[in-house]
Amino acid sequence: MIMSWDAFGMRVCRAAGDETEFFESYFEERNEMTNSINLISGSITLGVFWVLLIAAEYTYGQGETTMHPYRLVIQGGAGTISRGQMTPELEKEYTDKLLEALNTGYGILQKNGTSLDAVETVIKILEDSPLFNAGKGAVFTHEGTNELDASIMDGRTLKAGAVAAVKHIKNPISLARLVMEQSAHVMLVGEGAEAFAKGHGVQLVPQEYFYTEKRWQQYLKAKEDEKKDSGAPRKQVAPEDSSQKKHGTVGCVALDKMGNLAAGTSTGGTTNKRFGRVGDSPIIGAGTYADNRTCAVSATGTGEYFIRLAVAHDISAMMEYTGVPLEKAAQTVVMEKLPKIGGDGGVIAIDGHGNIAMPFNTTGMYRAYIDDGGKPVVKIYKE
Ligand code: ASP
Repeated sequence: MIMSWDAFGMRVCRAAGDETEFFESYFEERNEMTNSINLISGSITLGVFWVLLIAAEYTYGQGETTMHPYRLVIQGGAGTISRGQMTPELEKEYTDKLLEALNTGYGILQKNGTSLDAVETVIKILEDSPLFNAGKGAVFTHEGTNELDASIMDGRTLKAGAVAAVKHIKNPISLARLVMEQSAHVMLVGEGAEAFAKGHGVQLVPQEYFYTEKRWQQYLKAKEDEKKDSGAPRKQVAPEDSSQKKHGTVGCVALDKMGNLAAGTSTGGTTNKRFGRVGDSPIIGAGTYADNRTCAVSATGTGEYFIRLAVAHDISAMMEYTGVPLEKAAQTVVMEKLPKIGGDGGVIAIDGHGNIAMPFNTTGMYRAYIDDGGKPVVKIYKE
């Protein structure tokens, strides 16, 4: 009998006469050994992979699997919002709803969801709340109806969708997204937009759905004021009365873990609007804009001024052409250029690095974001 050790450390025994049997069992044993070794080395590789992944999570994402910072900012309208006019109960209602929307949107981003999904979901929550001038709780037109506008934009592809003057769409932001994803167009209005909605199985609601007593009283007061003022058309589209300057439009900008930006805005427009008036919210470049190379912006304020300055795109273009940071671009447009032409309102904006800006030139703007420490922050008034 010859006894030796092979490369696998197996004892090799050779006995004369039983060569065949020996080699059969030898190779069987050796194959088993090879399989075990493969299994062990596979497990080691997998182990190393997980260690690296956990290290990456720890380094880049504060416990999240990400190489990109992700962030979300929301707004619920700018205007004459002062502490004096606000009751603690109402303030709590606004704060709770903004927090609910913020946390839901942020949760989507945390679970690797897209910025587009986060923006749409956040805006749907705010549209469904009677507190804001979007979806349920929208302001009334001169004819006592509700006409809704919304838009959404994808900063990765520069695709955009918008709807204007729709009367029976529960969530205009979702229809705007459908226009972006399921049509060859960017903007659909009125009955055409609703026909498109029907064709895509979107939920239509009767006008009564949007009714709230608060908005109805605002509307009656606006009509009363208009009578006193002999109905000057300028006033009907851009109300100067401070009691009407509570806009309540909703919007959201987000940056997801893939580094993609998105923006969306939804509104009922301005109280007592007429002649099919459409504001800035559904106008891509005025009320909403997103470009991965620069920023995502959602605006609120008297739309006529935002359209004239193409506010949302102006902020993006300033960053692109001059290289100024987001904060500077947003401040310049909202605090310098807008007031020069009489424009009131504000924007929320976010850039590709997760920097945010929320300038407004009114006394207040409902806004909320997650701070650097991951804590949700809701603000209403000027600091
Ligand atoms: N920008 C909206 C519009 O003019 C109103 C608002 O933001 O409150 O329609």
